[in-house]
Amino acid sequence: MDLLNTLVDKGLRRETPTRGEALAVLATSDDDLLDVVAAAGKVRRHWFDRRVKLNYLVNLKSGLCPEDCSYCSQRLGSKADILKYTWLKPDQASQAAAAGLAGGAKRVCLVASGRGPTDRDVDRVSDTIKAIKERHEDVEVCACLGLLSDGQAERLREAGADAYNHNLNTSESTYGDITSTHTYADRVDTVRKAHAAGLSACSGLIAGMGESDEDLVDVVFSLRELDPDSVPVNFLIPFEGTPLAKEWNLTPQRCLRILAMVRFVCPDVEVRIAGGREVHLRTMQPLALHLANSIFLGDYLTSEGQAGKADLEMIADAGFEVEGAGEVTLPEHRAGGGCGSHEGSGACGPATAEPVGSAPEEPRTDLVAVRRRGAGTDLAPNA
Ligand code: SF4
Repeated sequence: MDLLNTLVDKGLRRETPTRGEALAVLATSDDDLLDVVAAAGKVRRHWFDRRVKLNYLVNLKSGLCPEDCSYCSQRLGSKADILKYTWLKPDQASQAAAAGLAGGAKRVCLVASGRGPTDRDVDRVSDTIKAIKERHEDVEVCACLGLLSDGQAERLREAGADAYNHNLNTSESTYGDITSTHTYADRVDTVRKAHAAGLSACSGLIAGMGESDEDLVDVVFSLRELDPDSVPVNFLIPFEGTPLAKEWNLTPQRCLRILAMVRFVCPDVEVRIAGGREVHLRTMQPLALHLANSIFLGDYLTSEGQAGKADLEMIADAGFEVEGAGEVTLPEHRAGGGCGSHEGSGACGPATAEPVGSAPEEPRTDLVAVRRRGAGTDLAPNA
């Protein structure tokens, strides 16, 4: 297919595809899907070989958020029956992180619910970062604490944070439909602050919220412009008790096309499959490793993932290898730069070009399991 040859050539040259080409990837048929995966896989292997980076989420503070992000189980007014707890102590967070690192993760993502941190919260997270780094010298630490005020990114950097995650989530034109308590511009501003402070910027999206193909392409092109080092791609987990509980719009095939499109637009960037991997890709997860070079190990913020052991077996069975602590994730021309979802990690034809699943009558507890283990509980974490 001419389209795919063009996109591979551009991806190997780090050249931006046109919007039309990105839209065309999303509009490909199921008959062409394996060709799309094979083409984007060439780009992925050119920049990242067969390595898969593992990231581990530690939810420092869960639930009770005053913001109203409609996709989020921790939002204001959420009726989702999630774990709710206030700040973990540094040693508790460090213990949770240790489980993920023992399981093969090289990055720990410290996430807290809320609009953004107070200066006191930055102190707490700084203590937590130090506690983790004292035990694990080589670990990469990413903080995800919401909107940053002036000076906070610099303080996190000084405390040893390597990266900051803040997702754009969706296109600027539809942002107001999913959240009313802050704006798209607020989010862009925080990603820029992180970048300016020398933190590796991590910023991504959530697919499956009822957006159009144009919205997905818009947000991925906006991300390319912001130039984060990592782009987490979340697939909406439709939690019962949230406004988007009935949004079961994704198929495994659509998820693969979205990941391929992100890879073509951001060829040399860490593309991470984030929340919703098991829920929406299901048995097609191994194919997605040909597109993304990074995943979360184990559980998400408020929902359970498949067993960490199953993640590792899937990577080996698919012929990929876990990236070691001593290996540099990014290609040489990007290395040294500063790399996410707030909730999503917990995180690119019109949306109706895919068959839209009918809203299930009953909660899909077979697919969405609320997290009941790990951080904030007495039970061992999944890693
Ligand atoms: S995404 Fe973050 S800011 Fe938005 S409701 Fe969830 S925890 Fe709060």
